[in-house]
Amino acid sequence: ATPMAIMVGTGLGAMNGILFKNAAALENATKLTVIVFDKTGTLTLGQPDVVEMVAAPGVSEGELLATAAAVEKFSEHPLALAVLKRAGTTPTEIASGFTNIDGQGAHATISGEVVLLGNLKLMQSESVAMEALAAESARLQGGGRTVVHVARGGKLIGLIAIADAVRPTSMATIAKLQERGVKVAMITGDNQATAERIGKELGIDIVLADVLPGQKAFKIKELQDQGHKVGMVGDGINDAPALTQADVGFAIGAGTDVAMESAQVILMKSDPYDVVGAIELSRATLRKMH
Ligand code: ADP
Ligand code: MG
Repeated sequence: ATPMAIMVGTGLGAMNGILFKNAAALENATKLTVIVFDKTGTLTLGQPDVVEMVAAPGVSEGELLATAAAVEKFSEHPLALAVLKRAGTTPTEIASGFTNIDGQGAHATISGEVVLLGNLKLMQSESVAMEALAAESARLQGGGRTVVHVARGGKLIGLIAIADAVRPTSMATIAKLQERGVKVAMITGDNQATAERIGKELGIDIVLADVLPGQKAFKIKELQDQGHKVGMVGDGINDAPALTQADVGFAIGAGTDVAMESAQVILMKSDPYDVVGAIELSRATLRKMH
């Protein structure tokens, strides 16, 4: 690209809230064959709310919420914030020994009992019996909810279903990229059923679910090994290695600093649709130089 065309291209981008950190990013954006979007905080608003609770027989919703909130108080996960918001100012119990289980949940101790909360995989790996709540968990996940399973003293005491609204432009972004000949993938640590439901709603081509934070970059590498030029759009700390691995990393402006440092393009308006703008701008810029 001529330096002049690149300058004009990056300048136009900046005026529209799309910051290309370097010329290579602008050039590489023209070549992308697949764009991988992180789910939470990228395609969705990242402001999840509790929408339903299912307590196990003999357990009240209040007990369920108090137990979960006592543990989530120590977590910085967006799901934890949803639980705390729902619990409000109701006095919770006191938990100690909080430990985060990366990409799965957390555990702590309350009154000498181990409390474990997180996804279904975590319950399975800790041999917590789902009993009567297995069907409820499947129903909620199939409906696109993220389910926080709560176990206390080795027994499941209930489910907390959380929903995170998709951003208003997510669907149009995906349709437009596909129209431009780019495949669209979604990557998430959330479970397969929830991810598939949201993927279907948005018309996503490839759904990559149950991906542990440490595996996101590896998934990008796998797509590259299949011959793809890969764009990655993310907001979180756990997206940083994938943003670096991608041929072009796009960070949501409202996301974490680490994501913005790892990406080559920053979407200042935190609007996924600006990925379309970035691709169109790069294509127009590169066309001008020939
Ligand atoms: P994402 O890729 O959507 O940001 P994470 O990798 O952070 O997801 O987490 C994956 C899954 O682990 C979540 O969908 C949730 O089921 C579970 N999880 C992780 N941390 C917590 C927590 N503090 N409370 C409840 N569930 C959690
Ligand atoms: Mg995210």
